[in-house]
Amino acid sequence: MKEGTYLFQRDQQMMSRKDIEALQLKLMKAQVRHAYDNVPMYRKRLDSAGIDPAKIKKLEDIAKVPFTKKDDLRDHYPYGIRAVPLDRIKRLHASSGTTGIPTVVSYTSHDLDRWADLMARCYSCAGVEQTDIVQNAYGYGLFTGGLGFHMGAERLGALVIPTATGNTKRQIKMMKDMRTSVLCCTPSYSLYIIEELAEEGLSPSDLDLRIGMFGAEPWSDETRKIIEDKLDIAAQDLYGMSELYGPGVAVECPEQNGLHIWSDEFLVETINPDTGEVLSPGEKGEIVFTMLTREAMPLLRYRTRDLAVIEYEKCSCGRSHPRIMRIKGRSDDMLIVGGVNVFPSQIEDILMRMDELGEQYQIVLETDRLDHISVKVEVSPNHWVKADMKELTKKVEESLIASLTLRAKVELLAPGTIPRSEGKAKRVIDLRKRI
Ligand code: ADP
Ligand code: ZN
Repeated sequence: MKEGTYLFQRDQQMMSRKDIEALQLKLMKAQVRHAYDNVPMYRKRLDSAGIDPAKIKKLEDIAKVPFTKKDDLRDHYPYGIRAVPLDRIKRLHASSGTTGIPTVVSYTSHDLDRWADLMARCYSCAGVEQTDIVQNAYGYGLFTGGLGFHMGAERLGALVIPTATGNTKRQIKMMKDMRTSVLCCTPSYSLYIIEELAEEGLSPSDLDLRIGMFGAEPWSDETRKIIEDKLDIAAQDLYGMSELYGPGVAVECPEQNGLHIWSDEFLVETINPDTGEVLSPGEKGEIVFTMLTREAMPLLRYRTRDLAVIEYEKCSCGRSHPRIMRIKGRSDDMLIVGGVNVFPSQIEDILMRMDELGEQYQIVLETDRLDHISVKVEVSPNHWVKADMKELTKKVEESLIASLTLRAKVELLAPGTIPRSEGKAKRVIDLRKRI
């Protein structure tokens, strides 16, 4: 990185490993104390586990603390796990969960301020500058995406255009007329925008886009290549979840080699999802976060259900914040079909590598006595007319077997037939009956 490049909170972005750990320890002790003193659930749990907050002396001691799970938030509906009186809560968000009780998350003024800082850091780390024009096409509302990306861009000092999601034609008009340089949306929505651009006869040179801030759902490296190529931008991955403020937990630097976790707020561990055992660095497992300064809703050892490997080596960008090597999916997204364990993103990887196929696909699970999986995928417009569908179908089926040992029925569809998503894409349709 060039010396003198403006970075938002440069000191925090560039902290050494030693300084990070010293700060983490100080904040962690205070945070365990805060949770114990102010949240009855934590007091009860720590008491029954025989943990005295005063005895937390080193970072590894966090492993003694019991986990917090999503159900704990649901069990405390409506206001969630709360450590401050209601008059100090200044905002609520809720997760996009479609079934059951929504997961409500709450923020004090400090929490909102901290979240804006962390998001501004994400933009800055990804290469966005104060002079950029940021178009935010995430959904505004209870979903944390819209306001999270909005506050961060404002905090950075960029110009923000809050287009929100949808209305793709107007989205493109704004992008063109306002000379938008940074696009924020889900990766799947960016694919939709790309199609719409082609339909309007526009190419990247008609736009001023240079960076995309894409997150909220898993996406493969192959999809990244397509997006970067078709929009002529750097497509940066950003991770977060509503329980952990929202977007802004981790982001890619220009090296695109893992997402830096802002570890002065998020203390990360990796665990075996079945046994809860803490894994060594470099081992793949479920990532677990302890928030270090959250006031309204402290979370100790929160189980994300997301599976990844954490890399602690210093990155070539100079940052020492550990990196999440890209998220492949959630533990509960993993498909088990005919004894094969596979993530939708692995199937996506195979499909996106084939030039004959388009970017849109769906995975359908059905059962009679055995489970069956079918993969529906659009053929790319150039290949649809001339392609010999039988041969191509066989080719896709064989690639899935060769790379994933997955026996799937492949169905090729005409371009434009799968419904496009404006937010998080629904790639898996599970029609299996659960008893
Ligand atoms: P929910 O979808 O559970 O209602 P959120 O909208 O907060 O709640 O989504 C958080 C989840 O989205 C994460 O736990 C993770 O599974 C997924 N996610 C977010 N960002 C990314 C990303 N960059 N890559 C992969 N998955 C992501
Ligand atoms: Zn880096």
